[in-house]
Amino acid sequence: MKTIYFDNNATTCVAPEVRDAMMPFLGERYGNPSSMHAFGGQVARDLRAARERVAAFLGADPSEIVFTSCGTESDNMAIHGAAEVLGSQARVITSRVEHPAVLGPCRRLRDMGFHEIEIPVDSVGQLDLDALREALKGGGPAIVSIMWANNETGVIFPMEEIAQIVKSAGAVLHTDAVQVAGKLPIDMRNVPVDMLSISGHKLHAPKGIGAFYIRRGTRVKTFMLGGHQEHGRRGGTENVPYIVGLGKAVELAEAGMAAENRQVAALRDRLESGLLASCPDARVNGDCRSRLPNTSNMSFEYIEGESILMHLSDRGICASTGSACAAGSLEPSHVIRAMGVPFTAVHGSVRFSLSRYNTGAEVDAVLTEMPRIISKLRALSPFCK
Ligand SMILES: *Cc1c(COP(=O)(O)O)cnc(C)c1O
Repeated sequence: MKTIYFDNNATTCVAPEVRDAMMPFLGERYGNPSSMHAFGGQVARDLRAARERVAAFLGADPSEIVFTSCGTESDNMAIHGAAEVLGSQARVITSRVEHPAVLGPCRRLRDMGFHEIEIPVDSVGQLDLDALREALKGGGPAIVSIMWANNETGVIFPMEEIAQIVKSAGAVLHTDAVQVAGKLPIDMRNVPVDMLSISGHKLHAPKGIGAFYIRRGTRVKTFMLGGHQEHGRRGGTENVPYIVGLGKAVELAEAGMAAENRQVAALRDRLESGLLASCPDARVNGDCRSRLPNTSNMSFEYIEGESILMHLSDRGICASTGSACAAGSLEPSHVIRAMGVPFTAVHGSVRFSLSRYNTGAEVDAVLTEMPRIISKLRALSPFCK
């Protein structure tokens, strides 16, 4: 049975070009970029080239890029690092629909005595900008961490407008752009965000590599103390093979973005409208006017998303009920709950997330299987007659 992979917001396959670019660094080019000898110096040049690529991809200067071990580390570094500089008088402002990598550090700061505020979203998952303005009222130091696009619904927040609100209140702004990188153009020259996180494995680089953008002049406390690597912002010998892989992945993403988005959005739209037509009592969760091209989050009333996933999995089809970090618990997703989705639908949410490697035949296979799965589960549901 061939795997049909519609779970690309959880992780993506490593692009063959990325793997090829990494291989020499897992072989003969193993020098330490900090070494004085030419053997290490060559690796330092390759590291610099990768940093320049990631910087160009973000419209940043290479000195503003710090390589990290993952998106989660970048998020923690931004939130804890900035909060420590601002001190415990600072407010910590985030949204109710963040990834656990942001909610976790924000709630830790709350436990440490910071005043933490979580901004609500409306029924289509859009941020309540008035609540954000209200939370910033009165000035005073604040660190704001608001994601650029949501991993579960694909809803895109208006980052230019958010940045304008936050910066005019004099606060520090971080955004988790893990789901945006590779799907929407990012240019830090045009968006006055202070810090931004990305993760390699969401854009066809391997798991275990991330990047952190920090605008020149923004102050964060270093928490990985050690050598002078990453301009003294993160100690530890650089993960050169993976950094080179990330450099290649952003290069591929940039070159292919426009064409891929058209192709992926067409497949996603066909999947979504096909499922709405063939499955009764189905709905789309999230703002369809401002959504990532690859993501569809749907609820099928009266049944459990987990049951749908198991039946799909038996047929080789990979999807998700939401964040992989929340999956495994039978709690409904905090994102879907924050949107006030009715209780008959809140448990039945399924996320399909596509990539450049998906095909129309794969969409057809899901369109064939899903109506059968839904009617089978509905026949067993105590809520259906
Ligand atoms: C996947 C993801 C992360 C975590 O990235 P890792 O590299 O897996 O730590 C953070 N935020 C969002 C929005 C994500 O989708």
